[in-house]
This record gives sequence, structure tokens and C-alpha cells, in this order.
Amino acid sequence: MLRSINLWIIVLSAIVVAGAIYFMVNTDADAQTTPANDEGVNTMNIDKMLSKYAVVEVKPDLSGLTEKQQQIVKILVEAGKVADHLFWEQASYDGLDIQAKLAASNSPQDKKILEYVNINYGPFDRLNNNEIFYGKDKTIDGPTFYPSGMQKEEFETYIKQHPEKEKDLVSLYTVVRRTGDNGLEAVPFSKAYPEETKKLHDLLMKAASLAENESLKSFLEAKAADFLKDDFYTSDTLWLKLKDNMIDLVIGPTEVYEDTMFNYKASYEAFVMIKDKEATKKLEFYNEHKNALEKRLPVSDDYKKEYKGLSSPLAAVQLVYCGGSSNSGTKTVAFNLPNDEKVREETGSKKVLLQNVLKAKYEKILVPIAETLLTEEARKYISADAFATNVLMHEYSHAFGLNYTVKDPELTVKKALGGDYSAIEECKADIVGLYNQSYFHNKELISDQELKTHYTTAVASIFRSIRFGANGSHGTANLMQFNFFVEKGAIVFDESTGKYSINYDKFEKATEDLANLVLTIQGDGDAKKASEVIEKYGKFTKNLTDSLKKLEDLPVDIVFDYQYNW
Ligand SMILES: [Zn+2]
Repeated sequence: MLRSINLWIIVLSAIVVAGAIYFMVNTDADAQTTPANDEGVNTMNIDKMLSKYAVVEVKPDLSGLTEKQQQIVKILVEAGKVADHLFWEQASYDGLDIQAKLAASNSPQDKKILEYVNINYGPFDRLNNNEIFYGKDKTIDGPTFYPSGMQKEEFETYIKQHPEKEKDLVSLYTVVRRTGDNGLEAVPFSKAYPEETKKLHDLLMKAASLAENESLKSFLEAKAADFLKDDFYTSDTLWLKLKDNMIDLVIGPTEVYEDTMFNYKASYEAFVMIKDKEATKKLEFYNEHKNALEKRLPVSDDYKKEYKGLSSPLAAVQLVYCGGSSNSGTKTVAFNLPNDEKVREETGSKKVLLQNVLKAKYEKILVPIAETLLTEEARKYISADAFATNVLMHEYSHAFGLNYTVKDPELTVKKALGGDYSAIEECKADIVGLYNQSYFHNKELISDQELKTHYTTAVASIFRSIRFGANGSHGTANLMQFNFFVEKGAIVFDESTGKYSINYDKFEKATEDLANLVLTIQGDGDAKKASEVIEKYGKFTKNLTDSLKKLEDLPVDIVFDYQYNW
């Protein structure tokens, strides 16, 4: 398997982010390619490449924690670094060697290249179609889930000939290796990475031994055991039952996006977090209105569903450490886990908002975009709080509407809409989220000013997301909203200043109309309509392309600089 550009375009388009919200999953269409220098190194632009990422200091405040809790956090960060190392091993066959080679060099240029290799977990630019930016070989091997050089067809043919091996070969938690007789075998992660697995187990047991909160203790013990079993059902379930604890943790093989060939294999990641009690309480307010929000959707009752009353805990947290897959390239601001469908159906899922990451993206990216593209009047109405709430409402709103079509209760919307499903689903989550704000406004739970702030901040965020092109579900979803709002007169472009203003009188109705459109497409499972709507609204206009050019020098994402005093 090669880390070729085409593969990655497919993968980037396929990032549905079932479990997590990723911002800017698209590629940077504007990034320039420079001629390779005589060493074959495409890093003439290294300063420019580095400037795409704004550095954000992470200084976790542990002062609200007891002595034992602080010790636990430190142990978990250590465990997080093991997961981070495992992701390096998974991301490419060459990454760690290249990292070591660059680290040994004294050249200032190499130091910069190392920095960029570290951001990307390898010599490929995740913001630029994963183009190889370092090394003579422009086609290095991709992720190590499969044998070096194995092609898709070989795997598929082998499985057809050996159906008894399929379950293990496609498992989330195995790597595929060649056998002596040219066959393929599945090796569980615990056997493929025995040392690291043991380390993870031991560190989590050590942390568990210090835990005074019973739910945290059981969760950590279960997670430690699950690493040895290559099965995370028990710990995933217990993660949803964490109660009255200050520390939160996601660790292990989680998302499948790095498996660019099949999306079968999970890659390692880690989030170590401290709960932000006040912010969590504020967000829980939205939980109480879920049923009312579903009932109020702007479609007929056939297109709404009843809640099953599953647990849907919510946590606003401060990120202490982020490693592995979730730390590669663009950074997550919120996620909804676990991905295990069985756990989700039996117990539910948990939404986590990373408060300090949200704030950093707001300050470093959203504010400069608003300053560049919005009128002075509109800029009065953007806020970090609204940004966070919009993200939360997006997550909630994935749950609204139907999963199965109205006419055929056996047919999933996902299957009916095929390749256009993700863009429609992401658009639904955004637009229903915004539409829901008018519910709170009508009930006088938020003020006129706050409603305006939600709308305006959402528009600034639309620019942020479409900077990376129409590839990928998030990019398309944002383009659709932008063009729909313009058509309805909710976003108004001023030719003379090149800035955008918001017509608040028209905005609410526009959210209602677009929500109606996408919820209906989903309920009908109408693939034809879906592609028509994407064709009509999911494209760049000249004004928009010109506007995006003005954002070229702004960072597109952030990297963390950990400032620990331990
Ligand atoms: Zn989403």
C-alpha cells in the first residue's frame, strides 16, 4: 500500500467522523508544491508549512485535584505517551527512523523538518493530500496495518479463498502479516506490540491503585485488562458509567481513519482530561430539552423518531495530553465515543468537549477569519461560548431525524444515500443544531443578542471549514450551508468592501428551510435529490474563492506545546 495522493483523497472524503468531530478534515487546496531540492527534499517551504499551525500552550491546572488525583493524571500522561508511540508505529514503516535521523542532526533546517514530521507523525503532509515532503522516495509505504506492498486486491482475494480467516483479518484490533507460505495471518495488537501493551496495562493498574473514586478505579482496571484481551467492550461500557470523577481518559485503538485501505483497523490515541465541572453543568442544560427539540424538527412526524432513553453523558473537560491518532494533523475539539455499536445500543455514548482546545481554535483561527471577512457590525456577534455551544449542538443533532427510511424501515438512510450520505449527515448536524437555537430563543432561554451570536459565529466557522476545499463531507456540508444562506439572503456579500454581513431577519427561516430539506432527503432515502442538492449548493462561487484567498496567511490549525511543571 502506498501513501499516494489519490488514496488519501478518497480517505479524506470518507471521513464521516462517526465518533468524533474533526475540524478541517479536508486538505489545503492552496498549499504550494515546491520543486524538490538536490536531496529530493520538498521542504523549501518549511517555514510556510509550519506557519499553518498556530502553537498553543497547554498548561493544565492541577490545583483543584487532590495529591492522589494529580499522581493519577501524571501516570495517565505517561500511558498516553505509550499510545502515542504506538501510533507512530502504525502510521508508517519509516516514520520513527526518519524522526531519529532528523533528531540526530544539528542543522537548523532539519530541526524545522523534524517539527513538521512530528506534527504529521511521518514525512507526509496531512494538510496537503499527504504529499511526501521529506525523503527521496515519494512513495513510501503507508500505515503498517497490512504487509508492506500489499495491494487491496490481494487482501480481498485471500479472504475469499479463506473465509474462515476473515473475522480475524478484518478485526479492528489486529495487524495483517505475511506467513512463510505467502499467506496472510492476523496478529492481535497485544501480540504485535507486546512490550507497549504490557506497559499500558501496568500504568493503568498503577493509576487504578491510586483511584479513590470507585467508578474510575473499575474503569481503569477494566481498561488495563482489555489491552491484554484485545477487546474493549467492558472498559467502553464502564467509561460511560464514570461518575463524580474529576479525571477522564480515552486511551487505546479507537478510530479507523488511518487505515486508508479499508477503514478496518483502529489506531492508537489518547486523551487525558480533567473535568470542568462548571462548564459541564452549563452544557447539561441542553440535555433536558432533547425530546422537545426532536418534536420541534421542521418536518412531519413521520420524519422524527422517539428517543430510547439511552444514557448520554456529557463532559466539558480541559485537555491535559493528547497523543497518537487524535494528535496527528488537525486537532479534535470534541468527540462522541465509544464507536462500538454494541455498547452504543446497549448503554449509549458520551460527548466530550475539549474546552481549552475550542478556545484556542476560536482565538487563533476563528477570530482572525471574522476580522478578515465579516463586517464590523457582524463581528460584534461572535463568541467563544457560542462556538462551543454550536459544536455541542452539532453533536446532539446527529441524533435527530431518522436512521431508517420512512418507506422501508429495514433500509438505513446511510445505505440509501450511499456516497452522499456523509455530506448530508454533516450538513444536517450543523443546520439542525442552528435551527435548535431558535427553540431556546422562543422560550426566552437565550437573548436576542445570544441568538445573533450563535448565527454569526456559525458563519465564521463555515469559512473556517471550507478553506480546505469541497473534498470531504465537512467541506461539502459547509459549502451547502454557505450557498443556501446566500440564496436566502441570510448572508449578504458587499461587493465594495468584500465583507459579509448577516441578515438576522432571514437567518432563522433559512435554518428551518435547509433543515427541512436535508431531514426530508434522509427520511426519504432520496439519493437522487441528495446529489442534486450537493451539486447545486456544494460548490465554490467566485466571490467565495476570492474571499478565501484573503485567509491564505492565517493558520489553519493548532499544535500543542505542553508546559508541564512536573
Ligand atoms: Zn458531525
